[in-house]
Parts: sequence; structure tokens; C-alpha cells
Amino acid sequence: MKTITLIPGDGIGPEVAESVKSIIDASGVQFNWDVVNAGAEVYEKTGELVPDSVYKSIEKNKIALKGPITTPVGSGFRSINVMLRKKYDLYSNIRPVRTLPGLNTPFSDIDLVIFRENTEGLYIGIEAERENGVMEAIKKITPEGSERIIRRAFEYAKSMNRKSVAVVHKANILKLADGLFLETGRKVAKEFPEIEMKEVIVDNMCMQLVMNPTQYDVIVTMNLYGDILSDLCAGLVGGLGLVPGANIGNDLAIFEAVHGSAPDIAGQGKANPIALLRSGCMMLDYLGHEAESKTIRDAIKSVLSDGSVLTADMGGSSTTSEITDAIINEMKKAN
Ligand code: NAD
Repeated sequence: MKTITLIPGDGIGPEVAESVKSIIDASGVQFNWDVVNAGAEVYEKTGELVPDSVYKSIEKNKIALKGPITTPVGSGFRSINVMLRKKYDLYSNIRPVRTLPGLNTPFSDIDLVIFRENTEGLYIGIEAERENGVMEAIKKITPEGSERIIRRAFEYAKSMNRKSVAVVHKANILKLADGLFLETGRKVAKEFPEIEMKEVIVDNMCMQLVMNPTQYDVIVTMNLYGDILSDLCAGLVGGLGLVPGANIGNDLAIFEAVHGSAPDIAGQGKANPIALLRSGCMMLDYLGHEAESKTIRDAIKSVLSDGSVLTADMGGSSTTSEITDAIINEMKKAN
């Protein structure tokens, strides 16, 4: 039986993780769950932000499903999320953004996938204070780091019969760093003549996505732009409670939603588990359990189409556990 590392996280993390675990268990797939945790709450109890048990479990199982972990703003410890992606070289952050049925959203047919470079850019955490209180942050872009994420985006586009890959940059201003990313895109694109490469400056991309998102198919970009565009796109399809993600390296993967720990609603039973659940579906696909992930995805669609059990972010008043039960009931009906 496959063992999955489950990191519930903090804030709404434990609520949505519990929901997702029970739905995946109800899908018929047989997993052992190795539950370990990290973050500020763990630190208060154990004196360690990331206990050794977390690393050991991830390294042994090679697959983790992870809830969000809070990162203090300004001062305090650096992001555990970013650290795990860097430590395990999970260079592809893949975030599919799709319109779901039954929700009141501005567009009805969005279907795009964001490939975000996950290990370099402005997230390397090299900042320094110069004289006179001036602060500097380093943005690191390498040929290898750019090529492997861009190649993954093009390979994905080819394998899924997608038409275009948009390489998003700011090379008009950051001529060296973003210039390298863009040039690498042009080089890789030559190997995929059947895929159209679009070159889009990030500020224009924001406007294009808000005005006409269906013109895009696959988007590949650097770390910070990918982070920002993911939240923007989440807003186009009903919000952060819905959009899944995967952090994939060469032999290890951590699946987690785009959203954070949502401290404003934590502990209230209001969180939408669908974003983490759809991340779980990506994990099932990755492990070859496509039938079970389809059962779960179909059940999500049925519950949303029906519209009587929705959490507050989707315009309803149901709790996390009510929507969990509704999804499980739909799965039982399908069997
Ligand atoms: P957030 O994603 O936690 O919340 C933004 C808004 O979306 C909030 O109003 C929240 O209630 C809502 N929301 C998010 N997920 C939801 C869900 N599943 N159901 C219903 N509503 C949901 O973003 P934030 O407030 O900027 O960040 C909070 C904390 O999370 C910060 O410490 C941040 O660093 C951290 N964070 C962690 C991750 C991660 O663990 N991968 C990702 C992003 C942010």
C-alpha cells in the first residue's frame, strides 16, 4: 500500500486536509497516510519549525499532500513552503485554472495552466541592507533553471494537444534577468514548432487575463510573476478556495493548493476544501489513479452544479464538513 506524507499545515490547513483525506479514502484508493506537521504552531509545542519527522517522511515517501503554512509578514522566519520547494528542487509549480460549473464567474470557459518556476527568481531570499537604510533583494535567473521549467511547459502543451505557450516576462526593463528567461523561451520554442509561443510582458498579461483570459492555454513564467498571476487567475474562476497546484521535481512531488492559511476564517468550519481536493486529484493522476481522480472531479462538478451545498466563498452557507459529505454522497451515487 502506498504511503503518502500528509502535512495539514496551519490556519484552515487542518480543516481542509481532514476533508480531503476522507474524500480520497472514500474514492476507493488505498493509501497509508503518514501525518507530520510544520510551522509556528508546531514550533510552540516542539521548539522546531520543521521537525526532522517531516523531512524523513517526505524523503521516504517521495509524495506529499500539504495544507498551507503561515509565513510571518516583514520580520520572523522565512517561508517553510518556499524552503521545501527549494530543498527538494521542486522546480515546476503547476496550477491549472478552469471554470467550474454552477458558479457565478465572469467567464464561462477558462481552461489554462500556469507553469511557475519554483526555485529561483526573487524567492531565493537574498536580501541585504546597504548604507542609509537602503534595502536590496536579488533576483536570480539561470539558464538551467529557465530551460527546465520552460521545457516542461512546452512538453505539457505538446502532450495535452494545447495550442500555445505564453512566456511572461518584463524583459523590457529587466534586460539581463528576464531577458535570459525570454531568450531561453525562444530557444526551447524552436524544438516545438507545432506550439505557438506568445511573448507577453507581465503588466499587459494582467490586463489581458482580466479582459480576455480564454486566449491563453499554457503560461510559463518566473517565480514572483507566477505567484501573482495564479491569484489573479483564481479570481477569474471563483476564488482561491478552488484552484489546485502541484510542486514537481525529478523524483519527488508535493501537492498543495494555491491558497494560504486564510487566518480570517481559520477554525470556523467555513473553508472550501475543493482547492486542496483538486490538488489531491492531481496527486492521484501523478500516481496513476486516474479513475479515482475522475470520480472525485465528477462529484465536485455535481455538487457545484446542484448548488445547494456551497461554502461561503462560493456564495453559500454550508460548512467544510457539509460539502465534504455532499461530495462523498455524490461519489457513492456514481458507484
Ligand atoms: P490566503 O490565500 O490565505 O487568503 C486570501 C483570501 O482568500 C482570504 O480572504 C481567505 O479567507 C480566502 N481563502 C483562501 N483559501 C480559502 C479557502 N480554501 N476557502 C475559502 N476562502 C479561502 O492569503 P493570505 O491571507 O495572503 O495569506 C495568509 C497566510 O498564508 C500568509 O502567512 C501567507 O504567507 C500564507 N501562504 C501560504 C501558502 C502555502 O502554504 N503554500 C500560500 C499562500 C500564502
